[in-house]
Amino acid sequence: MVLEVGSIVKVSGPLVIAEGMEHARIYDVVGVSQKRLIGEIIEMRGGTASIQVYEETSMLGPGEPVYSTGEPLSVELGPGLAENMFDGIQRPLNAMREASGDFIQRGASVTSLDRVKKWIFEPVKKAGDRVEPGDIVGTVRETALIEHRIMIPPGVSGVIKSIQGGAFTVTETVGAVTTDKGDVDIKLMQKWPVRASRPIREKLSPVVPMLTGQRVIDTLFPIAKGGAACVPGPFGSGKTVVQHQFAKWSDVDVVVYVGCGERGNEMTDVLNEFPELKDPRTGEPLMKRTVLIANTSNMPVAAREASIYTGVTIAEYYRDMGYSVALMADSTSRWAEALREMSGRLEEMPGEEGYPAYLSSRIAEFYERSGYVKCLGQDGREGSLTAIGAVSPPGGDLSEPVAQATLRIVKVFWGLDAQLAYSRHFPAINWLNSYSLYLSRLNEWMNKNVDERWGAMVAETMALLQEENELNEIVRLVGFDALSEKDQLKLELARSVREDYLQQNAFHEFDSFTSREKQFKLLDIILRFGERARKALESGVYLKKTLALDVRGKISRAKYISEDDMAAFDKIKSEIDAETERLMKEEAPANA
Ligand code: ADP
Ligand code: MG
Repeated sequence: MVLEVGSIVKVSGPLVIAEGMEHARIYDVVGVSQKRLIGEIIEMRGGTASIQVYEETSMLGPGEPVYSTGEPLSVELGPGLAENMFDGIQRPLNAMREASGDFIQRGASVTSLDRVKKWIFEPVKKAGDRVEPGDIVGTVRETALIEHRIMIPPGVSGVIKSIQGGAFTVTETVGAVTTDKGDVDIKLMQKWPVRASRPIREKLSPVVPMLTGQRVIDTLFPIAKGGAACVPGPFGSGKTVVQHQFAKWSDVDVVVYVGCGERGNEMTDVLNEFPELKDPRTGEPLMKRTVLIANTSNMPVAAREASIYTGVTIAEYYRDMGYSVALMADSTSRWAEALREMSGRLEEMPGEEGYPAYLSSRIAEFYERSGYVKCLGQDGREGSLTAIGAVSPPGGDLSEPVAQATLRIVKVFWGLDAQLAYSRHFPAINWLNSYSLYLSRLNEWMNKNVDERWGAMVAETMALLQEENELNEIVRLVGFDALSEKDQLKLELARSVREDYLQQNAFHEFDSFTSREKQFKLLDIILRFGERARKALESGVYLKKTLALDVRGKISRAKYISEDDMAAFDKIKSEIDAETERLMKEEAPANA
């Protein structure tokens, strides 16, 4: 519905200035020129609107019309999100390609969700039931991996007047609710403005770990379901591989992956690779529980800015159903650059390094939409949204504004290190400067649910790595041979932790993912060897004899043991005990 028409006075890249816009409001969506290019008003001064245009503007000029829609930039939420790939403003990439060929045509108006496809709706409520916002009224089998729960939208409460099962499109009416303000239709789809967070009942404190299957993360720097984390690192340090590993292996119900303005070929990789990946747990295509948001290289910079909001709003919607959702954004730095570019064109007062003064608050707003929550709805269900952003600071320098603003808000920091990546230690997460503020709380969960020794084992592992760092200083000064055998053993154990435990090959069949049980058993044999080697040393066995034991080869290959063969770890553990025992009998001078 066109309300009124303004006209363009100036075009500056993705920014268009229009006059005669008194009728419009900030954040309204407008159609720019006869082509109706999609734009969003990001600043209003009197009747002059500054419009961020999400499409190529090179052909535009002064005098052309600007049409108001009277609506904010919104996403369509309903069945058909999963398995789909969208651009930054939720246009479906495949449907657009079918409609307009490989290059996305300007103003191509394809709806976000398919209007023709019918979904089988099965009601779980009946006429006469009282409903509130968030109440689930029925379900749709969206994919083999997702049961889509149809919810009463925020702001609607009353009594169900009618409701029926059957095959429906997303815009057909499946029922109605009688409210104070009249009847409201129930449909499979609802809309939500992307820049506003979706309401919840209550934020709870995150206490359950999100299993990523990545040992250095789950063991040393774990993330909670509903937590916020960042992965900063220079080019080539493994940010994208880590994010892909999360998308593949995390124990969540739904993944929303935002590929945000990274190099074109990398985005093409995502678009080609994701549809091929299998969900390791079910064998179904991973896309059946994934929503992909991608800024293709032929999309203007402004759409990057929107993509983060589109992604997080879709993630919130699945969270509201009572699901655990993981949102990955690669990379938030490219998103911040889009913000900087628009700010520059608006001629705003620049802050640090040209970024706008509101950079930190925008970054904070994004991560604050994560959380472990009690959802709207009378059934008291809980959901979680875990947000993980890659940060790619120029030259890997963490003192720059985007990294700094991110570090102030997230609770987990996985610092990727160029040196580690260079020496092929992957994931290249630096164990000395990374941290997780969830660690102690999640260790409690692990102690209760995996093994009561877990927390102590983690502490011992971390202590070994820190001691290694200190001992290396001494080695630099006085040489390795000046160390006592006890300290030499420490260095050897730390090396074993790094190589046999922390290093993990994302591309190896059995090493790519490690379950909690396997993490526990693997760490247990590494630390067990340390304990026995210390004992041997104390009873007078030369360190080099202990380090030459056969079982050590088995420890270093143990990470490649299949998840189906947990008994193999118990066997190695008994071998450690038997071999060190034998050595102490044979070698210890006290027994001679
Ligand atoms: P970034 O996104 O930080 O630029 P990438 O994620 O593309 O870096 O990683 C660069 C390369 O490092 C990958 O192509 C891969 O060869 C290697 N790599 C990163 N992480 C791992 C891993 N966990 N296992 C094996 N190789 C890895
Ligand atoms: Mg990358």
